Amino acid sequence: MPILTRPNLTVQTGALVTRLLFKGTPVGVEYLHQGTLQQVYVNQEVILSAGVFDSPKLLMLSGIGNAEHLLPLNIPVVADLPSVGENLHDHPLVAVGYKSTQALPAIAPTSNIVEAGLFLHSGKSNEVAPDLQFLFSPALLSPTLTHEVSGATLVACLIKPQSHGTVTLRSTNPLDPAVVQANYL
Ligand SMILES: Cc1cc2nc3c(=O)[nH]c(=O)nc-3n(C[C@H](O)[C@H](O)[C@H](O)COP(=O)(O)OP(=O)(O)OC[C@H]3O[C@@H](n4cnc5c(N)ncnc54)[C@H](O)[C@@H]3O)c2cc1C
Repeated sequence: MPILTRPNLTVQTGALVTRLLFKGTPVGVEYLHQGTLQQVYVNQEVILSAGVFDSPKLLMLSGIGNAEHLLPLNIPVVADLPSVGENLHDHPLVAVGYKSTQALPAIAPTSNIVEAGLFLHSGKSNEVAPDLQFLFSPALLSPTLTHEVSGATLVACLIKPQSHGTVTLRSTNPLDPAVVQANYL
């Protein structure tokens, strides 16, 4: 990438951020790289974008979260914010795959694999945002089959789930994945 040569940019790969560092406000991050803990400090701001599970995990490991959960783990509380990790929305979907009875032409290399979609509202109302999404793929999408098997897949997806799940800390070890409770349906 051309921007890699910019003097104000350093990209560190193979690093696991273990917590944010604070002096009143976030001043840097601590990370594990090749078995060694490193710290890096910022001039302006820290942007945390570790994904839906690891962002709240890192906040909680850094002391931002529900004090009732952090104190038993002996994590010093930086900010008592009970909502951290408490509002997980995941949209459940069901895929039904059909294996074709004869070989189909290969999918075009330009295909995005999901060739058709449909949004609709289960209450048949045009006045509100859709709550259902359907996808159609001219491929048999299955983790247990290779893509050489011809077929098609239909997917139904609930896109406005009312279930709220949680992301909580399993331990204070940054290597441990968070405990994810989706509370589907
Ligand atoms: C199967 C699937 C299908 C999807 N389909 C769609 C779709 O059709 N349309 C759509 O809009 N969205 C879709 N999404 C959602 C979309 O992928 C996410 O919303 C988006 O990727 C979120 O981007 P992000 O950068 O916030 O997090 P992520 O893409 O999750 O990136 C987070 C990154 O942080 C890294 N990381 C985590 N913890 C640490 C740590 N401690 N130290 C260092 N690095 C860390 C992770 O390795 C990862 O690379 C889909 C998601 C899935 C799983």
